[in-house]
Amino acid sequence: MITPPAMSHPNSDTDTPNDALDELLRGNARFVEGRTEAESTLIDRDAMAADQTPHAAILRCADSRVAPEIVFDQSLGSLFVCGIAGNAATDEVIGSLDYAVQVLGCKAIVVMGHTSCGAIAAAMADESAQGHIATLLDHIVIDGDDDATRAAHNAVHQASEIARRSSPIAAAVSRGELCVAAGVFDIASGRFAFTSRSVQPDGGGYDALRAGSSAVRADDS
Ligand SMILES: [Zn+2]
Repeated sequence: MITPPAMSHPNSDTDTPNDALDELLRGNARFVEGRTEAESTLIDRDAMAADQTPHAAILRCADSRVAPEIVFDQSLGSLFVCGIAGNAATDEVIGSLDYAVQVLGCKAIVVMGHTSCGAIAAAMADESAQGHIATLLDHIVIDGDDDATRAAHNAVHQASEIARRSSPIAAAVSRGELCVAAGVFDIASGRFAFTSRSVQPDGGGYDALRAGSSAVRADDS
C-alpha cells in the first residue's frame, strides 16, 4: 500500500486545497504583471534531489505556449505537471495524478485548458486523423460557441473524468484533502481563470457550465 509522506509541505501558505489554488492565482497575477519571483536557478539542489513536495498537480495541454511553472510563477518542485494534447484525462494521466495525490500529497489538481488549442480545433474539424491522434481526440469534448468557452468545457469535462474514474482521488476530495479544479489560460493576455474550483466526481461542475456560458469566464477566487 502506498502511504503519503510524513513530511508536511514546507509552504505554509499552501496547506489546504483552497490555499493551493490561491497560490496559483497569485503567481499568475505576477506573471501577467511582469513581476515574477520564482527563483528556479537559486534553489538548494541537494535538498531538491532528496525529496519533492509539490502543492498542486497540473494537467496541461502539450502546447508549446502553455508552461505552468512560468504561467503560475512557481519554482522547480512546486508543481507536478502532466502534459498531453488537449489536456486529456487518459488512463495513464489519471495514474500519474493518483501518484501525485497519494504519494506526494498534492492538495489540488488543476486541469489547465487554453485558448487557441490545436487539439480542440482538430476534434472540431472531425477529419480522419493519422496515427495515434484519433485515440487522443476521442477524449476531447466540444461544447460552446467560442474558443474560450470550448476550452473551458473541455477542461471541466477532463476534471470530472479524473474525479469520477479515480477512487483515490474521489476519496481525497470527499475527505476535504483535495480539490479538482479546471480553468482556462488565455494565451493573448497571459491570464488564467478558474472555471470551477470544485469539479465533482458526478460531473457537477460540467453541469454548471451547461447552465450558462456566463459561468465559463467567472473567476470565483
Ligand atoms: Zn492545446
